[in-house]
Amino acid sequence: MAVDSINPSSPSCERDVEALQFIEEMTRNADSVQQKVLAQILTRNAQTEYLNRFELAGATDRRTFKAKVPMVTYDDLQPLIQRIANGDRSPILSAQPVSEFLTSSGTSAGERKLMPTIKEELDRRQLLYSLLMPVMNLHVKGLDQGKGLYFLFIKSETKTPGGLLARPVLTSYYKSDHFKNRPYDPYNVYTSPNEAILCPDSFQSMYTQMLCGLYEREQVLRVGAVFASGLLRAIRFLQLNWKQLANDIRTGSLSPKITDQGIRGCMSGISRPDPCLADFIEKECGKGEWDGIITRIWPNTRYLDVIVTGAMAQYIPTLDYYSRGLPKACTMYASSECYFGLNLNPMTTPSQVSYTIMPNMAYFEFLPHSTSGFAPGSPPKLVDLADVEVGKEYELVITTYAGLYRYRVGDILRVTGFHNSAPQFQFVRRKNALLSIDSDKTDEAELQSAVENASKLLSEFNTSVVEYTSYADTKHIPGHYVIYWELLAKDSANSPSNQVLAQCCLAMEESLNSVYRQCRVADNSIGPLEIRVVKSGTFEELMDYAISRGASINQYKVPRCVSFTPIMELLDSRVLSKHFSPSLPHWTPERRH
Ligand code: AMP
Repeated sequence: MAVDSINPSSPSCERDVEALQFIEEMTRNADSVQQKVLAQILTRNAQTEYLNRFELAGATDRRTFKAKVPMVTYDDLQPLIQRIANGDRSPILSAQPVSEFLTSSGTSAGERKLMPTIKEELDRRQLLYSLLMPVMNLHVKGLDQGKGLYFLFIKSETKTPGGLLARPVLTSYYKSDHFKNRPYDPYNVYTSPNEAILCPDSFQSMYTQMLCGLYEREQVLRVGAVFASGLLRAIRFLQLNWKQLANDIRTGSLSPKITDQGIRGCMSGISRPDPCLADFIEKECGKGEWDGIITRIWPNTRYLDVIVTGAMAQYIPTLDYYSRGLPKACTMYASSECYFGLNLNPMTTPSQVSYTIMPNMAYFEFLPHSTSGFAPGSPPKLVDLADVEVGKEYELVITTYAGLYRYRVGDILRVTGFHNSAPQFQFVRRKNALLSIDSDKTDEAELQSAVENASKLLSEFNTSVVEYTSYADTKHIPGHYVIYWELLAKDSANSPSNQVLAQCCLAMEESLNSVYRQCRVADNSIGPLEIRVVKSGTFEELMDYAISRGASINQYKVPRCVSFTPIMELLDSRVLSKHFSPSLPHWTPERRH
């Protein structure tokens, strides 16, 4: 990346030069920055209850740290985190006061994980955000000449028993002064007013953001959301609501469905009658053909700003359909625990995307990973950021300023190269995630227990589920889980009715984790779960097929999630009946325990 390839004469470019120089500095000195970060974290938190356990005796060097502090998972920390949530203000994990909890989309015992955070982490996240446009400006010129149509949302928040807020990291960020009072920046002008982004009602928020995006359709240079699923939900929203939106634009009014006073107030300065624009929207949306709708409505869009790596890769064909193949920029890699890094080549094709972890964000270690799992025997040796090897896969392990020490994030990354001395990683997958439509992640154990719970409804019919597999169906928006069931009915005169099987769908949904149920109930980002009953013998055929393709007969395991087209075709050709969840599962923002 050439820092001097940009024109430093305009003020915004000066800012860009500084940001790019910062990236260069951090990545050139990755190892020494990492050493400093670790020393800083350990010095500050030396007197915490957690670190005291390991008797570091003031040591802040990597060797002592690695020798004495164990690698942990969320479940190991859960009792400590629960104490903080219950109101214990003593320095348990971090010397600085815990400012709030960030609720991760990862789950533990079916509930969102709670990540304690401290105030200054907001600055660190802000710093990473501030690097994104300077990098983008190297690849796309003139982004200060228009606006970004970004569909951004807040989600519900709760209080822990001890009175701390618990909410997703983006909700925390959008509600912060860093976001709300951000200074004017010509490269970061959004069509969505803060009032719309900050409205907790997802319909009103989306409606207003879409309306503003339509009013300013000529100015829009980039269209985005955090994840691909969010952008597709916006397109679905347009398909369902374009008549009302066009009507509002024709008359310069605002639908009575929008009752939020903040939104109504700010829209009074934006709404205006524009019959030409209303005609245009009615013409384009009224065709009933949606291919290229993004480029048709927002013709100046240069790229889509959405994450399409990891689980979101399944949405690439649909995004291409709606945008006629516009480039898709995946700009950053982040989590509730820590913001990790950014993509220094954001216009690259999704399959080639690599993220450069920024060494100043936390102390990073890497657990070597092979497809057969971790080597048995001696404890695995973690590798430092600067020492990872190109081509190898690792699980990410972090030590953060907020007080996570050698914490396994659960992401598997592959090293693709280096930028200076900082490695670049392709996101391979989330460990254990089987099914994902939006921010939900369902693992094998969760699916298994959902099937078990639902199949209890079949026992009075002397029927059992002999085999099952699953599929994330994203052909329609919102996507939904499809579960294939092969049933064994011992009493054909008394087999389960369609109604019972529909109840099984709901029972499965009730058993799935709270992120799934929130997506279903509050976000409408997942559709009703479907069970497809297949003919008896189907799973044997599936095994025969796998063996014909070289699988070992002794080691064959039924895949609990499928996506390979020939297998889908085989399964679908054996379907006897299809059933859908008849209602929404139970969900409230409050945690169950
Ligand atoms: P959350 O726990 O809700 O904060 O989600 C964080 C997780 O989302 C990460 O650990 C990754 O598994 C996934 N994620 C975040 N950014 C990306 C990205 N750019 N590409 C793929 N997966 C991502």
